[in-house]
Amino acid sequence: MAYSYDSENIFAKILRGDIPNDTVAESEYSLAFRDINPAAPEHILVIPKQAYVNFDHFGAEASDAEIVDFNRMLAKITREVGVAQVAGGEGYRLITNAGSHGVQDVPHFHMHIIGGRQLGRMIST
Ligand code: 5GP
Repeated sequence: MAYSYDSENIFAKILRGDIPNDTVAESEYSLAFRDINPAAPEHILVIPKQAYVNFDHFGAEASDAEIVDFNRMLAKITREVGVAQVAGGEGYRLITNAGSHGVQDVPHFHMHIIGGRQLGRMIST
């Protein structure tokens, strides 16, 4: 089964400039912006600019340059918003949701950076 991308999803609209966003950082291949409904004092979404549905799509089909750029941006933001311990923070969590069991709402691959408070254990049952 091939990956199928819905170009009308909300992050595609953000990338096209149809919907405004609170940009934190931008690079050649990636965009980072604040989540509209933050789960913690720091809640930033990092997305690739190309059309990938989820992590396994990105990991399988993105170029090395896109993958490096994405990961460098994630790491840079953890430092810049001050959640990384090296930047004096108390840590953070990275989350990516995929599909219905992962409860993915927006079908454009994104990584959540969440921090700024004690987050508790990873999964509630
Ligand atoms: P998911 O459940 O797909 O992993 O997460 C989607 C995230 O996108 C949610 O945390 C939600 O608050 C965020 N979100 C949904 N619509 C918008 C929007 O229009 N702008 C921004 N900045 N975030 C959005």
